[in-house]
Amino acid sequence: MEQCIFCRVVKKELPSTILYEDEETVAFKDINPQAPFHAVIVPKRHIERVSDLKDDQTTVAAKLIQVGNRLARKEGVAEKGYRLVINCNRDGGQTVYHLHLHLLGGRPFHWPPG
Ligand code: 5GP
Ligand code: ZN
Repeated sequence: MEQCIFCRVVKKELPSTILYEDEETVAFKDINPQAPFHAVIVPKRHIERVSDLKDDQTTVAAKLIQVGNRLARKEGVAEKGYRLVINCNRDGGQTVYHLHLHLLGGRPFHWPPG
C-alpha cells in the first residue's frame, strides 16, 4: 500500500491535478489522457480492484459513479455524452491496483471497446 500510486496521490505525496475531493473520494486528471477530458475517481481507502468490493460496500461503487456524473456535468461533457469505465485485472486492462473509475469525455467513443 505504501507503494500504491493512487494512495500516494490521495495523500498528496505525488503531484496531480485534483478536480474534486471529499472525505472518502478524490478525482484527479489522468496523467495519460485518452480523451479531451479524462479523470480518474478513487476511494481514499485502498481497495485493489472492483471485484474486491464486499456485499456491504455497494456505497463505495455508488459514490464513484455519483462523483463521475457530477464531474461530467461540471466539465461540460454530460450533455453530449461520456463514458465511465472500471478495468479489472489483467484482461480487463487494469494497470493500477487501487480501485478507480475512469471518466472520459469530449469525443465519441466506439463499441465494442476493443
Ligand atoms: P487502469 O489501466 O488501471 O484502468 O488505469 C490506470 C490509469 O492511471 C491510467 O489511465 C494511467 O494513465 C493513470 N495513471 C497512472 N499513473 C498515474 C499517476 O501517477 N498520476 C495520474 N494522475 N494518473 C496516473
Ligand atoms: Zn492504494
